[in-house]
Amino acid sequence: KASVHRICSGQVILDLSMAVKELVENSLDAGATSIEIKLKDYGADSLEVADNGCGVSPDNYQALTLKYHTSKISEFADLQSLCSFGFRGEALSSLCALGDLNVVTRTKNETVATHVQFDHSGSIISQKSEARPVGTTVIVSGLFKSLPVRHKEFMKNIRREYSRLLTVLHGYALIAKNVRLVCTHLTGKTRTMILKTQGTSSIKDNIITVFGTKMAACLEPVDLSVCSECRIEGFVSKPGSGSGRPSGDRQFFYINSRPVELPKVSKMLNELYRSFNSQQFPMAVLNFILPTTTYDVNVTPDKRKVFLHAESELLQAFRQSLESVYAPERY
Ligand code: ADP
Ligand code: MG
Repeated sequence: KASVHRICSGQVILDLSMAVKELVENSLDAGATSIEIKLKDYGADSLEVADNGCGVSPDNYQALTLKYHTSKISEFADLQSLCSFGFRGEALSSLCALGDLNVVTRTKNETVATHVQFDHSGSIISQKSEARPVGTTVIVSGLFKSLPVRHKEFMKNIRREYSRLLTVLHGYALIAKNVRLVCTHLTGKTRTMILKTQGTSSIKDNIITVFGTKMAACLEPVDLSVCSECRIEGFVSKPGSGSGRPSGDRQFFYINSRPVELPKVSKMLNELYRSFNSQQFPMAVLNFILPTTTYDVNVTPDKRKVFLHAESELLQAFRQSLESVYAPERY
């Protein structure tokens, strides 16, 4: 039975960046204004996400790892209007199957936190009191160790996994307003700060904290009304400025502030900038503000791939607006 659980739940979390993404989203859903991520040996040894959110109350400890159990939907109707990140109840149940899961949590109703240890099937092994302010710390050790073949592959590609994780964290650091995000990495005895944002109230300030003033200076604001309820806002680099390397790690897309992958938007931007004779790949931080009925985020388990009902119209409007500003003769 345990092995069936492992195989099924392996689908939600396929790599390190997805594990961290799920934990950070849970913290944001819990209303955290401070999130601290600690990685040990690229996250392979352990990864820890600590927040100052609402915490989990004692009667919900066991439900944490129940598959398809979520505290975030009360009715099916909610699905359409949902704006929290998670609502499948799959992340923690997958993580406990893939590694060793420990949760330390405290709500405002408790005077002390509880450290809950889970086994690979999601059952509680032990509970003990621990000092901690209100909030939750989730620790995953030995990610993928329960799947030897997967683990070998994971360790072989650990640097790449780690850099993808950083890109994912950058995505949240750029869009999250007034959330403090800190990530440190421990290798051997050295702890390195790899990301630290104070949580500013604007995307521009977040860009400055994450990528520095030099990159921020290359960016032009975008604020485009496509239809009465559809807007694109954020920043793109001016043609001719920006990054000489392929753009994957410098293009960030969001729908209603939720990080998503929009490969067609990326492709359009890259092609357009090439047509401007720009040697540089465009950088972009773009938030698509859309009515919740015009897209579907439930296409893939990781909720990153989205189906946009009016993608080609949005793309065309965006393209035309960029052309009108940067068309080669004017540039
Ligand atoms: P989902 O996010 O889809 O509900 P998860 O498996 O990610 O499913 O989490 C299961 C449940 O655990 C959540 O519904 C939430 O109630 C609780 N939870 C997880 N992480 C946190 C956290 N950092 N703070 C408070 N509650 C949490
Ligand atoms: Mg979740």
